[in-house]
Amino acid sequence: MKPLLEVVQLARSFGGVRAVDGVSFAIRKGEFLALIGPNGAGKSTCFNMINGQLAADSGNILLAGETIIGLKPREIWRRGVGRTFQIAATFGSFTVIENVQMALLSHAGEIFRFWGPVARRHRDEAMELLAQVGMAEQADRAGRELAYGDVKRVELAIALANRPQLLLMDEPTAGMAPRERNQLIALVKRLVGERGISVLFTEHSMDVVFAHADRIIVLARGKLIADGNAVSIRANPAVQEVYFGTGKTFERAAP
Ligand code: ADP
Ligand code: MG
Repeated sequence: MKPLLEVVQLARSFGGVRAVDGVSFAIRKGEFLALIGPNGAGKSTCFNMINGQLAADSGNILLAGETIIGLKPREIWRRGVGRTFQIAATFGSFTVIENVQMALLSHAGEIFRFWGPVARRHRDEAMELLAQVGMAEQADRAGRELAYGDVKRVELAIALANRPQLLLMDEPTAGMAPRERNQLIALVKRLVGERGISVLFTEHSMDVVFAHADRIIVLARGKLIADGNAVSIRANPAVQEVYFGTGKTFERAAP
């Protein structure tokens, strides 16, 4: 079966820096794939080329066999490549449920309005999504009143409202405590698993990555240096080298 996403010899430089240097990998349907690597490895540059925000110098990106290189972010989004965790500037001034309803309206291509039968229909669906992320009880609170971890849950509901085939999550748990990180990633994994959505995510906590990723790819200085499951990545000398210098292991370096 064709992979959902294929990245082929992707490259992008900034001045003399080869931020992404001939990277190739694929994501299967329903796969939960972690992209890891030290700061400056090129992870965000990869994400930004896949979602169309940044032009590639060379290489190709195929979604379900069709090239998406050169398409505008909006067009890539319409083809089912969703992005968390990027909320609208207006998030705080609407209620939680209104924010999810707007995403549902926008997905359905309907005009923004909060009255009439359309709004009611989306309200039920929005409530259902909020229940799935554990936010039903806070549906009518203003976005600005939410705790940080709760904002992340609503962002997830918004991302799911767009019914993506592939969800790109660049540091979704940034700023969260370890326990919260683990919970959010576990929740994402469960909800995308139920829907058959593929995910590409970055995450700094190795514990979280090793606990949840189906597969892990590792970038260092713009190059892909490893691709495999948690067991093989943990044991990979090249990976240990870039993370901790020679002779150290993930186990010993755990926080
Ligand atoms: P990561 O997300 O893995 O931390 P990035 O993709 O953000 O890494 O960055 C990879 C390299 O490209 C770094 O050396 C970074 O300084 C450089 N870089 C990223 N974006 C830009 C930019 N817009 N302009 C100049 N250099 C950039
Ligand atoms: Mg980054």
